Amino acid sequence: MMRTLLPKSYLVSSKGFDQLPSNQCAICHDNASSAESGPVGQVQDFTVHNPYETNCGHTYCYYCVQSKISIFGDEWPCLQCGERVETIHKLIEKVEDETKQEGDTKEEEEKDENEKKADEKE
Ligand SMILES: [Zn+2]
Ligand SMILES: [Zn+2]
Repeated sequence: MMRTLLPKSYLVSSKGFDQLPSNQCAICHDNASSAESGPVGQVQDFTVHNPYETNCGHTYCYYCVQSKISIFGDEWPCLQCGERVETIHKLIEKVEDETKQEGDTKEEEEKDENEKKADEKE
């Protein structure tokens, strides 16, 4: 029986985590699916709490991804793309702040360059 090398994406997509919306935590889903033997395909809401973005650009709960890294080090593959997660950083949500008005109100002060001729006192 010949073994065919399957691309990484196959393994990842078989779990379906690559289909998750970006605001859903794949680790939470994974934990839930492994802990409970509930009905398969049950849609559960695992919105990312305190989002941290990995170096591959996927978002997980800080607690989730941090616990994975503390266990696996930098050997933990991202559940959504299979890439090794080496660094994470806090995801800062872009909030549109309309209270700040960034209008350019720089008034160019035209300095009078009147050269005052000093009175020549002799
Ligand atoms: Zn999570
Ligand atoms: Zn990823």
